[in-house]
Amino acid sequence: MSYTVLSLKWRPRSFAEMVGQDAITRTLRNAFQQNRVAQAYLFTGPRGVGKTTTARIVAKALNCPESPGNPCNECSTCREIDESRNIDVLEIDGASNRGIEEIRNLRELIKYAPVNSPYKVFIIDEVHMFTGPAFNALLRTLEEPPAHGKFILATTDVHKVPATIISRCQRFDFNRIAPATIQDRISAILEAEHIKIDVPSLELISHKADGSMRDALSILDQVIAYSGEAIHIEATREVLGIVPVDQYFAVSAAIRAKDGAALVEQIRAARRKGISAEVFVQDIETHFHHLLIAGFEGGATLIDHGEEIQKRYEEESRQWDRRDLLRIGQQLSELRIRVGRIESAYLLIEMWLLKLTEMDRSVAIEELIQTLGGARNRPPAVKPTQTPAPAPRQEPTPSPRKPQPKKPKEAGDLFTPPSAAPETPTVQEPTPTREPAGDSDRKP
Ligand SMILES: [Zn+2]
Repeated sequence: MSYTVLSLKWRPRSFAEMVGQDAITRTLRNAFQQNRVAQAYLFTGPRGVGKTTTARIVAKALNCPESPGNPCNECSTCREIDESRNIDVLEIDGASNRGIEEIRNLRELIKYAPVNSPYKVFIIDEVHMFTGPAFNALLRTLEEPPAHGKFILATTDVHKVPATIISRCQRFDFNRIAPATIQDRISAILEAEHIKIDVPSLELISHKADGSMRDALSILDQVIAYSGEAIHIEATREVLGIVPVDQYFAVSAAIRAKDGAALVEQIRAARRKGISAEVFVQDIETHFHHLLIAGFEGGATLIDHGEEIQKRYEEESRQWDRRDLLRIGQQLSELRIRVGRIESAYLLIEMWLLKLTEMDRSVAIEELIQTLGGARNRPPAVKPTQTPAPAPRQEPTPSPRKPQPKKPKEAGDLFTPPSAAPETPTVQEPTPTREPAGDSDRKP
């Protein structure tokens, strides 16, 4: 018996079976119920979220003789459309039919009435690949469409579709599908397929699919091929080439503790596992992003992981100053861009992450003032005022703020209480450091 990939076997065939695009499904169903189906639709959104699937369902709803508006999926018309071999429903790939000749043919085809059905339906996938003349020809068709013609355009890149075309269509923006929705769906599919899976695998796959149901199902195909009828997290990680989350916590802990040896050990372990440098850096970046989010009240619940891991993020986040996380995040996104360009990427990763262990901690201005104030035996509550000419021993006025007469010449000025000005200048330490050490030799 031949194996049908899950994304084909479980492709939704009716509006009721569609997953994760509720608003679009409801609007389309209502359009059929109220007999207000548009002449042309434009479906936009990332790949694998159901655009072409929905287009086929609309085509069936238009032409199914048994149950118009809600395809029966039993009649020959429905079955032919599902198998892309219905004479009145033409599926055109924008990438390979982008020239003016093909569009001329299309215009010829449109002139003829449908053979067996009420409508001639044109599904144009990846329509943004059309050339300028092809778009012009399409526009003329959309301007004067025959009564029997219906158009469904689909694209992953709506910005490349001319506004004149977009304005002739009813537009639907398909969303990335939420991980929880993907998880529910694959869990139901696996139950029907009599395949057991543990919860961490479910979470990992639905997270890794990045909003695409098709990607989730093709990952699942791979994992099933590897694991058989019982899927465990170790095997899932192996198939996906995923570094366990522990390892990312070990990386952040090593940076925090300025432990270079431990850090290099983690990086080399990832390399030995065959994780690509890009994926590794991206995952570390995501990890620090999670740490940042977890530092906000209720932020951990926004992390697409189980409760246990959310709690770990919350705990680790408490060990960090938010500004340090922001700076590290910035460094990592710069590293990610560089890693894509060079061959010895792992060497760069080691150098870059080791640099992070040398980074100075952020110092809050309030702390700095306290330190300075303490050194001068002043009460710690003294705050800098911005009065132009301070009278001696003037009390600080917190509000309203007055315009500053001149810009401070050096950073120290800003943090020194004005009454300290007449004193003999002393070396002011520490000075606030905003950039990581070694910033000037960042460029090779
Ligand atoms: Zn039917």
